[in-house]
Amino acid sequence: MANTYNPYDNVLKTVKDAADILGYSESDIEAIKYPERELKVAIPVCMDDGTTHVFEGYRIQHSTSRGPAKGGIRFHPAVNENEVKALAAWMTFKCAVVNIPYGGGKGGVICDPNKLSERELRAITRRFTAAIAPLIGPDQDIPAPDVGSNATVMGWMMDTYSMLKGHCVHGVVTGKPIELGGALGRNEATGRGVMFTTKNILNKLNVPIQGTTVAVQGMGNVGSITAKLLNEEGMKVVAVSDVSGGIYKADGLNIPAIIDYLSKDRKNLLTGYEEDGITRITNEELLELDVKVLIPAALENQINASNADRIKADIIVEAANGPIASEADATLNQKGITVVPDILSNAGGVVVSYFEWVQNIQSVSWTEKEVNEKLKNIMDPAFEAVWNIAQKEHTTLRTGAYLIAVKRVVEAKKARAIWP
Ligand code: GLU
Repeated sequence: MANTYNPYDNVLKTVKDAADILGYSESDIEAIKYPERELKVAIPVCMDDGTTHVFEGYRIQHSTSRGPAKGGIRFHPAVNENEVKALAAWMTFKCAVVNIPYGGGKGGVICDPNKLSERELRAITRRFTAAIAPLIGPDQDIPAPDVGSNATVMGWMMDTYSMLKGHCVHGVVTGKPIELGGALGRNEATGRGVMFTTKNILNKLNVPIQGTTVAVQGMGNVGSITAKLLNEEGMKVVAVSDVSGGIYKADGLNIPAIIDYLSKDRKNLLTGYEEDGITRITNEELLELDVKVLIPAALENQINASNADRIKADIIVEAANGPIASEADATLNQKGITVVPDILSNAGGVVVSYFEWVQNIQSVSWTEKEVNEKLKNIMDPAFEAVWNIAQKEHTTLRTGAYLIAVKRVVEAKKARAIWP
């Protein structure tokens, strides 16, 4: 199944489901089925051993109907064209559901950052930025971090683009280091948004926050900050995992100690972490734990036809992009599991990216408190709107989110009409 999995088919199916309920014709949604632009680039790099290696990369703009394309750059060995297309389209609908003035785009380079030296990673980043430079820019397409990239990479992208232009261009990327105009709170923003969303869904379902069990798959930027914030809110984080596998403790894990261990060295993995009373589990076992809340915060297609019927959580908050394949949605729904969709729950990152871009354009800087408050003021009403439409139309929250997002994108397209 893994070989035939095409996440872009997931996107098309979800959009079609929403379009049918909205009463849109095939013609109304025809244009949003196709990414507007796809660029594939070869990235020759002189490796540390003196050999030349060519990496492959993509930048795909799914839509610019509502504003510049917006979305991250993924550095991962599994990057491929269909994945980047899907990730770009998810950005379009994510920006639409939280109503920020962007379309959607995504980029990726097929590489394993853990196996590269810092110099090699910088060389890939610079050459990739130069290769996609005709497409990006503060008014055109604005990259940001995603799996395998971070603020340091964004700093190199910003520098490369600025060198090519001959002047400093802050707004070309978001998620930059604070010294280069990065927004305070951007690093934590996706996890903070997931925390707000988790609290919102628990509240709607009358589940207390204090002591409620939660398992988090993935301890990258999003998973680790989500685990940290939910632990601080009083939830009991009983399991976490990374590529090396997971750990489980019924009484709740020592999340600050885990994060401290992982952040000491980027090569540290959970497999080397020790704590009294922990049981080692696999990533698959983590997904099937009997917990109240499950938060997949790793990659796509983690819950699919092969394991959907074994999921025991009552609530799934999607922190990764596309962690549940379409084929699993119906099974989870039949089992009475509430799924809060990625385009809503992980939108905190791009919302604060938007705040960063707004600050860059105006040459102002907001405090972290202001950023966090403004983020909550976008995330909470967006959640409420999705909840309400799903109740009204008797749909899942995913379809509810797409009802809002697809309508905004289609109406923007209609208002612009087709050129020429
Ligand atoms: N990569 C993040 C996402 O998938 C953030 C994108 C951005 O800030 O532009 O939402």
